[in-house]
Amino acid sequence: MRMDILTLFPELFPPVLGESIVGRARKKGLLQICCHQLRDFSPDPRGRVDDTVFGGGKGMLLLAEPFARGIDAIKEHTGSLPHILYMSPRGPVLNQGKARELAGFSHLVILCGHYEGVDQRLLDEYGAEEVSIGDYVLTGGELPAMILADAVSRMLPGVLSEEACFTEESHFSGLLEYPQYTRPEVWRGRAVPSVLLSGHHGNIRAWRQEQALAVTAQNRPDLLEKYGKG
Ligand code: SAM
Repeated sequence: MRMDILTLFPELFPPVLGESIVGRARKKGLLQICCHQLRDFSPDPRGRVDDTVFGGGKGMLLLAEPFARGIDAIKEHTGSLPHILYMSPRGPVLNQGKARELAGFSHLVILCGHYEGVDQRLLDEYGAEEVSIGDYVLTGGELPAMILADAVSRMLPGVLSEEACFTEESHFSGLLEYPQYTRPEVWRGRAVPSVLLSGHHGNIRAWRQEQALAVTAQNRPDLLEKYGKG
């Protein structure tokens, strides 16, 4: 997969998306992430990318044209028809299902807003899909884009050592993950549940399912309701 990110702050990305699992996936060639400075696509000689909002209102709005030129340049360079995403608090909230769905595209272009956002005509012109990372407002789309890129990357074949790394995790099945333990068997007087040391795989599976239901009921009853209906 290839991801192109259009942003006013490309320098924020390498420290996050160049390390650990995503960084290794990039080095192995499983994933290509290219960050572009939005100002480089501004038709304005001083690189201006924003203006005041028609109809009045506080703050500045990002212009459609620099993003449009950026998207067109990426398309021309890659020769592909990418799926275009706009990080936005107005969009449906990202979840595991959406991350899996997006991992099915070979090329994503991610637009990061700033200030009051971007001219609506850009989103209409390119059929951009709006994606939120939660019901709160951040100053820019950079952190949301990193979160989306990370969530999508780990769904790509070969990025995690085994598929079970994500199929057994929170949200994949619709439930949250059961509690997990490592050495020592007793830590500060707290013992690991004996079933996990029993070596009986059927009992361990049953215990984990029961615990996943209990954790979900306690922390996210809304998910449990959906799980029951699913
Ligand atoms: N005026 C916009 C609104 O009310 O919907 C908010 C603009 S916000 C201050 C600036 C940019 O940050 C947005 O264009 C978007 O790219 C990004 N952003 C902020 N909160 C976000 C969220 N929850 N999810 C995804 N992107 C977000």
